[in-house]
Amino acid sequence: MAKGQRVEPQRMCAACREMKDKRDLLRIVRSPEGEISLDPSGKRAGRGAYLCRKQACLKRLQKSRSLEKAFKMKLPEEIWDLLTAEIAAAALREENNE
Ligand SMILES: [Zn+2]
Repeated sequence: MAKGQRVEPQRMCAACREMKDKRDLLRIVRSPEGEISLDPSGKRAGRGAYLCRKQACLKRLQKSRSLEKAFKMKLPEEIWDLLTAEIAAAALREENNE
């Protein structure tokens, strides 16, 4: 692990609007070609949105449709599936850490 001196870049969750460390958030990106994907590297080109790895934030996002508004298109079902799987995996990891 790096020394605690480095400041992590902060990004806002599209659901709860809280600022979090970028690495703690999932990045969803819409490419210039209009394709939506998850971006674990955080480096893909395009318009990005961030989401906490939290069930509550995912639900909120699905309800609010703020991503659809931000991307000006509907999110494919498979993206929601991927997000659900990511967040379930994160919850499991957290459980195991405790
Ligand atoms: Zn959130």
